[in-house]
Amino acid sequence: MNPKQLMDQYQLEPRKGLGQNFLHDPNMLDKIIKTADAQNGERLLEVGPGTGALTVKLAESHPDSPIVAVEIDRRLEPVLSQTLAPYPNVRVIYEDFLRVNLNEHFPPDRAWKVVANIPYYITSDILWQIFACQHRPNRVVLTLQFEIGERICAKPNEMSRLAVMVQFYGQPQLVAKLPSAVFWPRPEVDSAILRVETHPTPPIDIPSEKLFFQVVKAGFSQKRKQLRNSLSSGLALSGAVADQLLQQAQLDPKRRAETLTLEEWGQLTRAVAEHMPD
Ligand code: SAM
Repeated sequence: MNPKQLMDQYQLEPRKGLGQNFLHDPNMLDKIIKTADAQNGERLLEVGPGTGALTVKLAESHPDSPIVAVEIDRRLEPVLSQTLAPYPNVRVIYEDFLRVNLNEHFPPDRAWKVVANIPYYITSDILWQIFACQHRPNRVVLTLQFEIGERICAKPNEMSRLAVMVQFYGQPQLVAKLPSAVFWPRPEVDSAILRVETHPTPPIDIPSEKLFFQVVKAGFSQKRKQLRNSLSSGLALSGAVADQLLQQAQLDPKRRAETLTLEEWGQLTRAVAEHMPD
């Protein structure tokens, strides 16, 4: 049964505020599964199973994979109990995904992947939450808003804090553009399938991830301002010290955060670390 028929059967209306645009096109569901290319046995995470269309396909094609699906909307419990009844390898957790402790569900003993058609209103929080896990997934495949996917894959000159974060952890690529007709109800924006191949080792040499992200956050704290200004206000430094750090990192203080490469953020983080050990 497709999502609309299931929702009608249980007399439920999709909630716009929860990003409930259900994917009903079997070809697109197959494309997502193919893009994930998960081994049978790998752990899988789905954020927002909805009525279970993607979950069923995942469970059918990976009978030995423990699948965790996190759904915030408890109204969907009877629907998911019906659609997922034949699949004992799926565990649905009814909770806000942003409150789930992923370290508990994805310990380092097995590789894992994320495969999901996510609620668009929390895309960036979902990505931060996934990559904050101590044992990271080796691949993340998400359906998201096309423009956000483009932003994540941006090159220097158009970088954002989100792009730096995702590209620090992995290599993002847009795999397909999805027309709104493959969803019910249709979203008002274009969608895309994004694949992020996680880097096995960090792509740059930095003293600490925490400091790296503090520096990046400071750099992007003032939109379109020169790095000298955004760093001094974001890291509570004088303009002269910010200048000195940028010089040490061989960066022109007039540059803007969106122009920096990952390696240049690394240079800057190393300069900041030397200036403020710990
Ligand atoms: N996977 C289904 C599909 O492809 O048809 C549903 C996708 S729909 C775009 C997003 C789903 O995420 C909805 O079922 C919604 O209730 C759920 N959701 C929204 N916010 C959530 C949150 N904070 N935590 C977990 N699930 C959430």
